Amino acid sequence: MRIAEIHLYQVDLPSNGPAYRMSEGAPTALDSTVVQVVSDTGLSGWGETCPIGPTHAPAHALGARAALTQMAPGLIGRTVTGPAAVRRALHGLLHGHDYAKAAIDIAVHDLLGKAHGLRVCDMLGGATTDRVDSYWSLTLDDPDETARVAAQKIAEGYPRLQVKIGGRPVEIDIEVIRKVWEATGCPRLVVDANRALLTRDVLRIDRECADIPFVFEQPCHTVEEIAAIRAQLDHPVYLDESAEGLGEVLRAISLGVCDGFGLKVTRLGGLGTMATVRDVCEARSLPHTCDDSWGGDLIAAACVHVAATVHPRLLEGVWLAEPYVGLHYDSANPVRVEGGRIRVPTGPGLGVVPDDGAVGDPVASFA
Ligand SMILES: [Mg+2]
Repeated sequence: MRIAEIHLYQVDLPSNGPAYRMSEGAPTALDSTVVQVVSDTGLSGWGETCPIGPTHAPAHALGARAALTQMAPGLIGRTVTGPAAVRRALHGLLHGHDYAKAAIDIAVHDLLGKAHGLRVCDMLGGATTDRVDSYWSLTLDDPDETARVAAQKIAEGYPRLQVKIGGRPVEIDIEVIRKVWEATGCPRLVVDANRALLTRDVLRIDRECADIPFVFEQPCHTVEEIAAIRAQLDHPVYLDESAEGLGEVLRAISLGVCDGFGLKVTRLGGLGTMATVRDVCEARSLPHTCDDSWGGDLIAAACVHVAATVHPRLLEGVWLAEPYVGLHYDSANPVRVEGGRIRVPTGPGLGVVPDDGAVGDPVASFA
């Protein structure tokens, strides 16, 4: 089976409902790039990459399409033996830009799954479950409103809550954490600063919330800042934004700077590297999420498939943009959060196929 055509699509994904406010800003619409890889046997594999704006990570939507435009001609005519061979080919066509390569990697997994009648989770080692936990991210808001939403989400069935903090006086962050804890008693509470806190403020939150069991997620901008205060913290620390690739994950583990990770499929370069990081985490008993920064059904399916293969005691859940996006590429098999959990798609490959016209016309095609 050879790659005969590659098509790129641009999709505007809305952010409906309450604003998704983080320390770095509140996106109201996201620019997603969908990739279709067509084989000479007539099969299509689909992938996607959707950075959450241009300031969250060294990834942006225009960069994704430029990188894919650079790489796509070099893939036409190539035999698809497996995802690792395609990944090496991509590295030979462009240095870096793993978030763009991820869209091809996901599409190739989808294509191979369809060719062999296997779900992506089966290709990645086998699912341990047919449903995975999700978690709700409580974005920046005042303490009482945040606590109200937190209680509502626990009542809906969410097993885990993430509280966004940072970018405002630390006293408000402390009040939010305390009110969410008092309103829910949620045993799986995460406090995510998206890199925004000074070490001084992390230490203060740690001390003033000593009675509340939570995990700090990416409290500071760099691994070095976190390493500097790590020994003084009573709360566990997970890395998210700093886990930029397999090398950075290995560095963090070797430094002993974290107790787990918030992992993003596209930031790591796709499902192949994600599965490698999953295995590294299992070897060191490190819990982690399987998320992405934003995206539609294709990203959602990729996250859920790999999450289904994680050792159950290490899976922290899957965050999806789905409750905010409110539209689905595949009307027959949408990937949805229901009662705080997500069903693993059952069809071959990703189990999600965009409806005709759902992602518009290609913005670039290669053959
Ligand atoms: Mg995070």
